Amino acid sequence: MRDAHRKTSVYENVGKQFNKAADLMRLDPHIRRILSKTTNEISVNFPVKMDDGRIKMFTGYRVQHNDTLGPYKGGLRYHPAVDIDEVRALATWMTWKSGIVDIPFGGAKGGIQFDPCVCSSSELERITRRFTFALGCNIGPEYDIPAPDVNTNAQIMAWILDTYLSTQPPHTRQANRHVVTGKPVEAGGSLGRDKATGQGVVFTIEEWAKEKGLNLDGATYTVQGFGNVGSWASRLLKAHGAKLIAVEDATGAIANEKGIDADDLTNYVAKTGGVKGYPGAKETDHKTLLSTKADIFIPAALENQITAETAPLLQVRLVAEGANGPTDPAGDDILNKKGIDILPDILCNAGGVIVSYFEWLQNKRSEFWDLGEVDSKLYKKMVSAYARVRDTAKEFNTDWRTAAYIVALRRLEKVYKERGIFP
Ligand code: GLU
Repeated sequence: MRDAHRKTSVYENVGKQFNKAADLMRLDPHIRRILSKTTNEISVNFPVKMDDGRIKMFTGYRVQHNDTLGPYKGGLRYHPAVDIDEVRALATWMTWKSGIVDIPFGGAKGGIQFDPCVCSSSELERITRRFTFALGCNIGPEYDIPAPDVNTNAQIMAWILDTYLSTQPPHTRQANRHVVTGKPVEAGGSLGRDKATGQGVVFTIEEWAKEKGLNLDGATYTVQGFGNVGSWASRLLKAHGAKLIAVEDATGAIANEKGIDADDLTNYVAKTGGVKGYPGAKETDHKTLLSTKADIFIPAALENQITAETAPLLQVRLVAEGANGPTDPAGDDILNKKGIDILPDILCNAGGVIVSYFEWLQNKRSEFWDLGEVDSKLYKKMVSAYARVRDTAKEFNTDWRTAAYIVALRRLEKVYKERGIFP
């Protein structure tokens, strides 16, 4: 898996995708100028006391791309490859995502450049709390709402919540619980948020399979990345009778043409930290995984995995993008020429932010929805967004990524025209 030390600019990819859609739909040039820039870019350096008593400096970011459709919204990532370029790209994708699925949020993203895998839990807690403190009023329940992303989880969101509330005046604390989403359920999280991104991926795959006449029972799939998104998508596809035949993550790649049990692999990864050495499969390598013949490939890890170099290897009918930005523009062209369908990230993985919106609403209203209610509302949102993207692809005779951009850009263009530019 291409990882930490990639040099390609992800934000440049966003620019290319954006320009292609803006040209095709003839986006108003003034609005185009506005949307091609981020609004705020916050960069903080902060000290943390490590377990051995040393003080280490960390660099964290929060980029706020646009808040025309609602408060800034997006995850926080902990990874050595986090930098301003990546966070800009991820923040921009969040704006499009909320626009496509029609939720009242703008786009933001943040992160800290470090490897959480080599930190103790108490170091992780101090890093998280100090970062939250450093961000100060740059986040807020009606302003900018973080959530989990790569290497962050519900526990980390609980620390953010606690730190943020502790720094607010006592009488406002209860009203501020929606400052972060993806919290543990007991701490104000929503049922169904943990699986939401994977669930959204599977809902879009179901729609695609229905239209293509593919029976998911017996269909084969491969997965890159076995964190929250990859493991949930795999477990939910298992319930359809689909067969997981190869998986890779940062520790290695494994394959078994007879099928890998996604629940068993999830338990193994929880114990060992990765798929490497899983006894129910044989070891394989990155190139073999990408070349594996299957119906569906789900990239659910990092950006720039499907490129000019790797796209020619793929032998699947569908790429369902659980990750953000897994396909670069050169990779896109190759997949389109090969006739491989793509469920683009800003549609396919939007289930996470949709259920974040439901969590935010429940907190604001002091409500607690049951899982059936969350799932059925998520289903409705995903399926209608899927239909909008499909119909727009037909209308413009274009690929689905460009169509997804057009759905979001049309909505933003309309609001800008209605509101005008201050002053
Ligand atoms: N990090 C997730 C994403 O990329 C979720 C964001 C959110 O829930 O705000 O969509």
